[in-house]
Amino acid sequence: MKPAHFEYLKPITPDELYNQLSFYGEDAKIMAGGQSLVPIMNMRLSTPKYIIDINHIEDFSYIKLDGDHIAIGALTRQTEVENSSIVEKYCPLLQEAIRYVGHAQIRNMGTIGGTIAHADPSAEVPCVLSTLRGEIVVANVEEERVVSPEEFFLTYMLSSLEPTEVIKEIRIPILSKDSGYAFEEIARRDGDFAILEAIAVIDLNENGQVAAAKIGVGGAGPTPEILEDVEDFVVGKELTDNVLDDACEQIKDILEPDSDLHGSAEYRKDLASVLVKRALETALTRAKEGA
Ligand SMILES: Cc1cc2nc3c(=O)[nH]c(=O)nc-3n(C[C@H](O)[C@H](O)[C@H](O)COP(=O)(O)OP(=O)(O)OC[C@H]3O[C@@H](n4cnc5c(N)ncnc54)[C@H](O)[C@@H]3O)c2cc1C
Repeated sequence: MKPAHFEYLKPITPDELYNQLSFYGEDAKIMAGGQSLVPIMNMRLSTPKYIIDINHIEDFSYIKLDGDHIAIGALTRQTEVENSSIVEKYCPLLQEAIRYVGHAQIRNMGTIGGTIAHADPSAEVPCVLSTLRGEIVVANVEEERVVSPEEFFLTYMLSSLEPTEVIKEIRIPILSKDSGYAFEEIARRDGDFAILEAIAVIDLNENGQVAAAKIGVGGAGPTPEILEDVEDFVVGKELTDNVLDDACEQIKDILEPDSDLHGSAEYRKDLASVLVKRALETALTRAKEGA
């Protein structure tokens, strides 16, 4: 199928974009990499009257170190993040995760802002952003605001972004060089969206106990889920087999996934428990190597 008729707008500065968003509001849709929007328009699930193509706004494409986080401009291609030496050095977890996004061709076009705005609960980058407690910078003609992932992701494919707003930047907290980290994912085929994904980041103290933990899953509900109770449970403990088993068993009681054609709720709970355990084991090995 072909998309419904639309008018094409091509702003080249942020101000021009903000004004167009303000003027056209709900009638307009931003197009970044087009990897999700174009198929949706072709299927006529979305029929915007105006497409605002942000690909010519140079100010929106960058990766830079900024204090305790990496600032990534919304228009930065997923491939650029994958190949960035800054990301490799300061948040290798993001690099590991982004390699699971579709295929190379999709990552060459797909942008970091697009994958956040699309708000798919199985998408890899939103899960990293949520688990690490990153931030999203959004802007409109009047102001800029910084939003937490919890405030941003509302439910399946829905965010708190207003029609007049654009994502400008995402901020990914940097990992300590001694942090152990891991990303685990199960998908039906290579390059498919995840059925479930899990992230673990741990720091160890001098006694080999967990000093700090960040644990999250994607695909187990309408938004990425931070497993705070599991984080609290492992902190102060040595990650023995028993502790890992006890930590991951409780995940089945915490999560309330929906069933769909890719897997039942029970299957997703089991998968979450298994993948978090694998992620914690790998994170532990890496934390020991880093220490
Ligand atoms: C075959 C296939 C497999 C895929 N597999 C995966 C996968 O495994 N994991 C995964 O995460 N993704 C996957 N994707 C999606 C891919 O990552 C997309 O690149 C991403 O979801 C959207 O990014 P985009 O830049 O292409 O955005 P677009 O398609 O241009 O836009 C998507 C949505 O975001 C909005 N938007 C875009 N940029 C902004 C912005 N800066 N501010 C506000 N709104 C904005 C658009 O208006 C639109 O609603 C897959 C896609 C395909 C076609």
